[in-house]
Amino acid sequence: MARRHLLIGGGPGAVSAAEAIRGADAAAEIILVSADPHGYYSRPGLAYYLAKEIPEKRLRPFAPAEFTGLDFTWLTDRAVGIDPAGHAVTLENGGELAFDRLLIATGSTAVPARVPGAELDGVVKLDDLDDARDIIRRSADAKNAVVVGGGITALEIVEGLRAHGVHVDYFMRQDRYWRNVLSELESRVVEEELRIGGVRVHPFTELARIVGRDGRVVAVQTGDGTQITCDLVAVAIGVRPRIELAKAAGLACERGILVDEYLRTSEDDIFAGGDVAETADPVTGRRTLEVLWHSAVHKGRIAGLNMATQPVHAYEEGPSLNITRLAGLNTTIIGAVGAGKDADLEGLSRGDSQTWSELGEAVLIEAQADGARIRLEIGERAVVGAVVMGEQALSFQLQELIEARADISSVAPRLKAPGAPVAELIGSCWREWTARHA
Ligand SMILES: Cc1cc2nc3c(=O)[nH]c(=O)nc-3n(C[C@H](O)[C@H](O)[C@H](O)COP(=O)(O)OP(=O)(O)OC[C@H]3O[C@@H](n4cnc5c(N)ncnc54)[C@H](O)[C@@H]3O)c2cc1C
Repeated sequence: MARRHLLIGGGPGAVSAAEAIRGADAAAEIILVSADPHGYYSRPGLAYYLAKEIPEKRLRPFAPAEFTGLDFTWLTDRAVGIDPAGHAVTLENGGELAFDRLLIATGSTAVPARVPGAELDGVVKLDDLDDARDIIRRSADAKNAVVVGGGITALEIVEGLRAHGVHVDYFMRQDRYWRNVLSELESRVVEEELRIGGVRVHPFTELARIVGRDGRVVAVQTGDGTQITCDLVAVAIGVRPRIELAKAAGLACERGILVDEYLRTSEDDIFAGGDVAETADPVTGRRTLEVLWHSAVHKGRIAGLNMATQPVHAYEEGPSLNITRLAGLNTTIIGAVGAGKDADLEGLSRGDSQTWSELGEAVLIEAQADGARIRLEIGERAVVGAVVMGEQALSFQLQELIEARADISSVAPRLKAPGAPVAELIGSCWREWTARHA
């Protein structure tokens, strides 16, 4: 009899699992249950949609025919209970679905502001397409907005609001933007771009209270008592994995759902993938959460393969990668680049990985080359992390070198010399490495 795979979630974690299962088992029955009424779309793409750079239809990663080819059932519904022993999931609209193997890929959700007034009409977040549409709709009447938080999402909202002609006051709790991932120089470049774009940037500014009239936002009050008039308050202070369903079912959870190297939860037939899966390094036991599109795809694929076959395919984390845009600057962040904690964020920000904040004794090199601002973090023999801002010609080479932990010791002393031709040296390193591994 065909095995039935049930997937909870409609993001890249669940959809890549469906692809992997179908690839491994042509006869399997695959049912995907997603609470999002808009089907499968790119969440990172929401920033470009909000900024009026792409139409809504460009958010779809698949053409409808490619989806049909996967031959699975997509149900728009919410899973409200899991019975691990009975191998069944209860749905909000009634009914129960039995499963042989289950995947939980419920993603993550924005952490709400914990200040008086947080429930007022006009307080917005950016988790999904409905939120993006809501911000666009409200921008038509709004004049001023206050954005609080850090990481990528805060800036995506800032840029989106500016594109719709809304004046923005951006609050940062500390001295600079995204201090646990960016260097001081990079933070300053981003802040300057924001100012050039007409954003009022407020360092050392805490949101203390949201002031309302007739249930609607009319102003905010900062920690020092200053009042700023506004119609909208956007909160982007971090995200949390949606673990409630798994917790209620008795699965082992900490910040995410705990999984082994095969992405199996504490129940043999239940797997977790995407943002919600808290993975463990089998050697060090170190646990990691990642809120990254490409990691969600990778985890989904591995979980799907293990579901369709036997749990023998191990998930290997690899260096984190994010190709994004910060205040209009194309930016690639690879591997270990930061340290410590960002006071503007509770938990992780979207497009973030804990592995970015665990830099050891690396040597830092910052350089300007061919329209790009480049930062390299160099360990004993290899580049362990990099940030490329602006022109992206070097980012692919750096991705490959970092992923392969390529030995760069032959050029390291020259790279570390003041005024070194960084782009040239990285380019020759990469060519040498590809020639050796061709
Ligand atoms: C605005 C924004 C910008 C981003 N920018 C970047 C970026 O620049 N780079 C990057 O790498 N990543 C970025 N991300 C993060 C990236 O999109 C996520 O890491 C990725 O989507 C996670 O995939 P997932 O499948 O785990 O969860 P999600 O894509 O969050 O999908 C979870 C799905 O589960 C559904 N669901 C939840 N609970 C239930 C339930 N009980 N029953 C049924 N369905 C349920 C939800 O409706 C949703 O469809 C961004 C995310 C957002 C929102």
